[in-house]
Amino acid sequence: MAKDKPPKTKGVPNKHLHSRSTFLYQAATYLTLHAAALDANEAPDSAQSSGTTGSRHRLALQLASDLQNVSRKGQVRLSSELKRTICKTCNTVLIPGRTATQTIENESKGGKKSWADVLVVMCTLCGSKKRFPIGAQRQEKKSERQPTQAQRSLSEKSAEEPTSIASPMQMTTDQDSTPG
Ligand SMILES: [Zn+2]
Repeated sequence: MAKDKPPKTKGVPNKHLHSRSTFLYQAATYLTLHAAALDANEAPDSAQSSGTTGSRHRLALQLASDLQNVSRKGQVRLSSELKRTICKTCNTVLIPGRTATQTIENESKGGKKSWADVLVVMCTLCGSKKRFPIGAQRQEKKSERQPTQAQRSLSEKSAEEPTSIASPMQMTTDQDSTPG
């Protein structure tokens, strides 16, 4: 009888939170882009338009901070790509050339090591920096890594141990060979 139940439809959990955070991000990006565009075109003496630009930018900051709150309270993980484009300090959406500058640093001796390249994204509003290593190959996840030679020999050794316990002679030789 219980088996007659229709199978549960497996949708995306917390779908409403995802759509909300997506909307907030898109709106914040849109407003940031428009505020920056107005900043660039606007004459310095037009006080009225600067007011709207300011409010646009404030709204963008508010939306981005709402986005952080939605993800925190709803325990929705924001994608790393998304997090990289939001300033941690002032919540500005970082758009290269508009609200952020991108430079490449290399602090190796003479900048010879190409794998030491670090992309530095600086927020032009508050000056805080995000640093992303781009030259270095990212280390594989632990589960995906191949065991190294040392680890393999260790695991073989531990597999042998139970048999060596059976003969006391071998145990003493083992103890002699290992220092300490
Ligand atoms: Zn900032």
